Amino acid sequence: LKRDPHEAEFIQAVQEVVQALERVIGKNSHYVNIMERLLEPERMIIFRVPWVDDRGETHINRGFRVQFNQSMGPCRGGIRFHSTMNLSITKFLGFEQTLKNALSPYKLGGAAGGSDFDPKGRSDNEVMRFCQSLMTEMFRYLGPDKDLPSEDMGVGTREMGYLFGQYRRLAGNFQGTFTGPRIFWSGSSLRPEATGYGLVFFAQLMLSDMNKELKGLRCVVSGSGKIALHVLEKLIAYGALPIYNLSDSRGYLVDEDGFDYMKVQFLRDIKAQHRSLRDYSKTYARSKYYDEAKPWSERCDLAFACATQNEIDQSDAMNLVNSGCRILIEGSNMPCTPDAVQVLRKANVLVAPAMAAGAGGVVAGELELNHECSLMHWSPEDFESKLQEAMKQTYQRAIKAATDFGYQKESPEALVHGAVISAFLTIAQAMTDQGCV
Ligand code: NDP
Repeated sequence: LKRDPHEAEFIQAVQEVVQALERVIGKNSHYVNIMERLLEPERMIIFRVPWVDDRGETHINRGFRVQFNQSMGPCRGGIRFHSTMNLSITKFLGFEQTLKNALSPYKLGGAAGGSDFDPKGRSDNEVMRFCQSLMTEMFRYLGPDKDLPSEDMGVGTREMGYLFGQYRRLAGNFQGTFTGPRIFWSGSSLRPEATGYGLVFFAQLMLSDMNKELKGLRCVVSGSGKIALHVLEKLIAYGALPIYNLSDSRGYLVDEDGFDYMKVQFLRDIKAQHRSLRDYSKTYARSKYYDEAKPWSERCDLAFACATQNEIDQSDAMNLVNSGCRILIEGSNMPCTPDAVQVLRKANVLVAPAMAAGAGGVVAGELELNHECSLMHWSPEDFESKLQEAMKQTYQRAIKAATDFGYQKESPEALVHGAVISAFLTIAQAMTDQGCV
């Protein structure tokens, strides 16, 4: 970490992981050495992405791909397009993805990438030219046995389609699906839904261990992107109390009448056009949009963080505690600042870490590859039950590691620490077996 003292997000993620490994590393100094090796990514690619807008002006963005660790298998990890994207965020996302993949039921390494390009307000042609330029450099590092990308913030079906098209053209063959594209030419029947649905399945697993269910509970969801809207859709299906809040980067929305599937589709249309959630409140009279505010002070039993890193700071965490929140499900990676983590832990709020609860996308990606290889055609119901089973295995793995290392199953840090311990021990074994490489 001394090499890169300015990488705030990466350092924060590492500190959280090291804290979670206190009881593991303390028992075996060999793990200190493994950790030192693990923290240096295997490969970091930074490159120029030139592209021309619709008026003929040239723009230069920066592209990133960090292949963090391949000791468990070929890399998988998201691509993010956001103006704040930099090497620190790419490394933090790649590090978390490496642990997330190791905790999942599959044998995969972890990566992350993207660009400081902002697709908002850009035409389809501009986005296509940008994606083609990015892939012209990135494709040489990709392939089913090396690394395959998936969606993250700012990257959806449209971007994935353009990225895959250019990749296929340069590679000269149609190999390895990218997770995200449309089902009729690639992708699985449940890929866009998988991470959001997986978060709700994970919440259900935690609740059923407490002999409770989602039905009738009040839920707050942050974000209104791909993950948040699929969480909302599944919460409606499970009968959670239909007074939810959603948010975007400018404020948050409350609908006193609750949301139904028609309203979710309307929200999807608004966000597809990059409009603000404020436009929703112009159509539904009993809804209200709060400017420059976050949803965490609304009364709730469960909160689903589905926007971005550090979206919950210390005062947000206090608001969550005061609003009655008992469980926080992390969809975004590292949604809490270190101060917020302390507040939630002190108040005994159970936290489902993104590393475990957000594994739905990894599962869908691997099911897709099997799907492709075996040419089987699974229905959405088959896919959903496979996703549920994989989420259950991930949950059980995290709980087992926590209890093996002396954490009470009900303690607020059990899942967080258990997930890290299980993932780290799996990678550490692979790295030890493979020698110093
Ligand atoms: P999207 O780009 O589809 O949506 C992101 C949402 O977050 C938007 O509603 C956006 O608002 C909001 N947002 C962005 N920045 C902020 C901010 N600073 N404060 C408040 N809200 C903000 O992304 P996804 O839904 O795909 O991803 C959401 C999170 O889930 C990310 O953290 C991502 O890393 C994580 N994740 C995603 C996976 C995937 O498969 N997509 C898999 C695993 C994790 P606005 O519309 O105003 O921009």
